[in-house]
Amino acid sequence: MKAASSRRHLLKAGLATCTVLPFGGVLSQEKKEEHLWDKEFDVIVVGSGVAGLTAGITAAENGAATLIVEKMGEIGGSSRISQCDMAIVGSPLQKKLGIQDKPEWLAADMQKVSGGLTDPEYALTIAKGTSALFNFMVEHGVIFNDTLMHFGGHSVKRTVYPVGGGKGIIRPLSNSFASFKNSKLITRCKAESVIYDGDGRAIGLKVRTNYLFNPLLDSEDTENKTGSVKYFKARKGIVFASGGYCRDNSIVSAEVPYLKGISSNAQIGATGSGLRALLEAGAYPVHLSLFRFSFPISYTDICWGMYVDPSSGLRFVDEGGNRDKISMAILDQKKKNGNVTPVLIYDSAAIKNFHDQRRLKRGLALKNTCGGNIYKFDSLEELAKAYGIPVVALKEQAQRYNKMLDELKDTEFNKDMKAMKGAGVRKAPFYAMQAMPFIAYTAGGAKITPQAQVISARTFKPIKGLYAAGEAAGGIHGANRLTCCSVIDCGVFGMIAGTQVSKQES
Ligand SMILES: Cc1cc2nc3c(=O)[nH]c(=O)nc-3n(C[C@H](O)[C@H](O)[C@H](O)COP(=O)(O)OP(=O)(O)OC[C@H]3O[C@@H](n4cnc5c(N)ncnc54)[C@H](O)[C@@H]3O)c2cc1C
Repeated sequence: MKAASSRRHLLKAGLATCTVLPFGGVLSQEKKEEHLWDKEFDVIVVGSGVAGLTAGITAAENGAATLIVEKMGEIGGSSRISQCDMAIVGSPLQKKLGIQDKPEWLAADMQKVSGGLTDPEYALTIAKGTSALFNFMVEHGVIFNDTLMHFGGHSVKRTVYPVGGGKGIIRPLSNSFASFKNSKLITRCKAESVIYDGDGRAIGLKVRTNYLFNPLLDSEDTENKTGSVKYFKARKGIVFASGGYCRDNSIVSAEVPYLKGISSNAQIGATGSGLRALLEAGAYPVHLSLFRFSFPISYTDICWGMYVDPSSGLRFVDEGGNRDKISMAILDQKKKNGNVTPVLIYDSAAIKNFHDQRRLKRGLALKNTCGGNIYKFDSLEELAKAYGIPVVALKEQAQRYNKMLDELKDTEFNKDMKAMKGAGVRKAPFYAMQAMPFIAYTAGGAKITPQAQVISARTFKPIKGLYAAGEAAGGIHGANRLTCCSVIDCGVFGMIAGTQVSKQES
């Protein structure tokens, strides 16, 4: 008790001479005394998802005593609940099937949907790193399914997925990290702010141990003061792998007021504590208002259906249009409509076209989340009755839609009718779902270099000792992130961050 209070006293004395940066970060005027710190490691990683575990393992493999801090009671973040579909160039499955692929092709596919908002070097870095990431995962115990998938937007078949989804990655990687004797992972430990030395180098973290995350608080990060404040030193540096902020209504609605209250299927702790700490530390924020909408089925399978407003039975969008346009149209329609969710209708030919059969099966088995259950009806009359859609209006809309398909011209919303591969609204049984868009991914975060160094908002140069990887980093994907490309981004930049930080002088 006495020792603890004298340590606190010394720490206070040390901080009394610190300078507070314009961003709120603390710049110490004097070298901190060793005994001011509660714990010391070479490297501290914030977050235990794919980015955090790959960074942590890589740093530990390079000999760095590494601490991973995780604010939640459970490890893995959004990565744990993700399917973790991964676009890998040169996987054993591609080789077995004789599929030619190149990092440049994957990078080009990623760039195509980025809206020109990113530096192509990020995409190329990720694409070039996928093969090494795949081998790293396998070496650390991840088992992949022996099916290769082809998702929309990818020029070749290249997606692999782990047995057990995200858990099939998090479990073996965390076991592997636990095997390093000089390294440690602490749960319920929230990184609150970065501490600098007199040269502007990040040398430690202020954290809260025994933190009790409270999902009921509106501003969890700013109001929750549970746990004890401690100071952890990072001799070589800190990696923020703290994920995204989909569940942070204050940040989401500050960026795009229209999205206030939108739901998300990201992990419950995907609030902005990591982002806030990075901003306070002086990181340059990039693309904070870009969000990725998702649906409970693959977005690329929406095109096979006909979306109608239940109150009128009328279409309201090009179902083959881009992800953002469809999402905004649905949200708009729902707002106009007294909060009634539009209905997406498929016929028996349409569901044969699904790219993502796993989610189709889950939906048909009524085991999908977020409105993703798919119900079967023998006739349009039955379907209309179930959703309260005016029957005559729906049947007339279906007739018009089928006629436009026959004529290969959508005079209502300009959908590409030539790409419909026989899908229509004519062959019973019919299938319907009330798929709402939600946000599952935030494209914004701290700007990093291709070496994962965090860029300072003040100097535009890398902040010494500070790295970011995964969803915590922003500006990597731009306007749209290509499907199956977040986990590879997290893993590749996690490995880069772990390598770079462990090379630093202590
Ligand atoms: C349902 C779902 C399905 C998805 N499917 C795919 C897919 O198939 N393929 C794909 O490529 N992408 C997919 N994504 C996206 C992808 O899974 C995520 O972008 C990725 O896993 C994020 O990894 P990460 O390591 O950056 O963050 P996370 O896995 O979220 O980990 C961040 C961790 O940091 C912790 N943390 C945050 N702040 C602090 C703090 N201040 N102190 C301490 N700890 C902190 C969090 O609690 C969390 O555990 C999906 C996402 C979801 C939600």
